[in-house]
Amino acid sequence: MRRISIFGATGSIGQATLDLIGRERESCHVVALSGGRNIARLARDARAFGAEIAVTAHEELLEDLREALAGSGVEAAAGREALREAASRPAEWVMSAIVGAAGLAPGLAALEQGATLALANKESLVSAGPLLMATARAHGGTVLPVDSEHSAIFQALLGEDISAVERVIITASGGPFRDWPVSRLARATLQEALNHPNWVMGQRITIDSASMFNKALEIIEARELFGFSPGQIEVLVHPESIVHALVGFRDGALMAHMGAPDMRHAIGFALHWPKRRELPVARLDLAQLGQLRFERPDEARFPALRLAREVMAAGGLAGAVFNAAKEAALDAFIAGRIGFMDMAVVVERVLAEMSSAGGLDGGAPTLDKVMAADHLARIKAGEIIAGTNRQEA
Ligand code: NDP
Repeated sequence: MRRISIFGATGSIGQATLDLIGRERESCHVVALSGGRNIARLARDARAFGAEIAVTAHEELLEDLREALAGSGVEAAAGREALREAASRPAEWVMSAIVGAAGLAPGLAALEQGATLALANKESLVSAGPLLMATARAHGGTVLPVDSEHSAIFQALLGEDISAVERVIITASGGPFRDWPVSRLARATLQEALNHPNWVMGQRITIDSASMFNKALEIIEARELFGFSPGQIEVLVHPESIVHALVGFRDGALMAHMGAPDMRHAIGFALHWPKRRELPVARLDLAQLGQLRFERPDEARFPALRLAREVMAAGGLAGAVFNAAKEAALDAFIAGRIGFMDMAVVVERVLAEMSSAGGLDGGAPTLDKVMAADHLARIKAGEIIAGTNRQEA
């Protein structure tokens, strides 16, 4: 029996993972499932899959979880330390699908016990890529990409010599605002940002797709996962979301990975790697699709892409600051406190202020340093957001 844990089990990626695992129940034993506020879903799945332990991130919800699990034999736990403890329980394959930097500590704990970490939580790589990869190396753990673009790169690299890679191209759908002028973008509403043309995802990544912060995180993710230099990583807008990434080699060959926009492909690939197994995803009908379009992204309308390059150039703790400021700005946009284009303004100001105060240089990365930089960036972002509101009042 393969021992499996899923962190962020109640979310979009977590549910897709459980869908796949549910199809091979006889060979999987579920160790831990984690969730946040959706206690009913967490308890339902922990019962259905006979998990050893279910953990909610929120301590105040522990009693609710205990009640929902009463009589099931599933252990209930809550809080950050409980998440870390659950991730330390021996498991061969661990899905990291918590949203945000909160996924970092459980991911590290899973790698410390030598697990294969299927990584959807790109924020942990952006915040602490060198730490995460060094932890995997030190403990015999493996990091497998689950983000569709990075899974595509990983697959295009199979059997190839990475030193023969000239460039990689990550595609972006362009989201719902692909053709919008800046003046209209400034007034974009939450509802409009949530209206993604191709992918069904959690709320936060959907808004990040609309602002291209998601693509910005992915550029950094590609660098941390594969070690490409920033200059080797390109982004193209591809409205059909069929080609997920391309790898260009020294001889001019360009290997594209195509598939229907369904995360169960990348999750299933990581689940069965190094083998390929049948997956319940739609097969492409290229003749019916007819055409695939590619265009360059407009960095004036989507400044997040430029910021990602500045973050890579700065190095040190810049990734942790960038991600935390982005999360704070996203919360403020969701709460209606700032406009859509203000998110990039807030992030840029946090980076600038912390850079001039020397707050991006951290030496060798540790979890404590990353979390301290993350904390400070959220405070700075809060001050800037409050200032933005005062000016408007
Ligand atoms: P969702 O919002 O659907 O799910 C997020 C999960 O994290 C839920 O289980 C949620 O619990 C839990 N959670 C939320 N806040 C916390 C917290 N502070 N501490 C611990 N757990 C928390 O997100 P997605 O599934 O869309 O995305 C998950 C990750 O995968 C993200 O990093 C995203 O960038 C990445 N990803 C997602 C893709 C997609 O298609 N959805 C594609 C590629 C990458 P609850 O809901 O119970 O509150």
